Amino acid sequence: MKECNQCGKCCIKYGDGDLSATQEEIDLWEIFNPDIFAFIKNKQIWHDPHTGEKLSRCPFLELTPKATPHEANKYTCSIYLDRPEDCRHYPSLISEMLRDECEMIEIIDLENYKKAQAKLDLIMQDSRPAGY
Ligand code: SF4
Ligand code: SF4
Repeated sequence: MKECNQCGKCCIKYGDGDLSATQEEIDLWEIFNPDIFAFIKNKQIWHDPHTGEKLSRCPFLELTPKATPHEANKYTCSIYLDRPEDCRHYPSLISEMLRDECEMIEIIDLENYKKAQAKLDLIMQDSRPAGY
């Protein structure tokens, strides 16, 4: 199991509407992060603040400039510290990582899912809520 290499596949896949935010998160954005709250419509993420249309891609996903054209795409989240809980919890299961072609997975992880899950849980322990 490798650390996340910021390939962006998860944000690209889930940032178009499969993500959700809690009422508490939305309330906090409204008070402290109006720039994020602007993308909420009817308690749903993410919508164009001007047209109100649902976005097909997370507006906070940014492609990092490349030093050379041959480098793989690398993405960052421009609201990293304020991102939804949903984003913080990914990845949570080996099965979803395989399904999503998450690049943290290594060949050796396929030989023992239980061991791979334990490694993942260790890597993710600071991102998940207590008792997860
Ligand atoms: S809010 Fe950040 S972590 Fe969540 S989908 Fe968008 S770019 Fe990815
Ligand atoms: S798919 Fe996996 S490796 Fe790629 S950005 Fe998401 S967590 Fe990181």
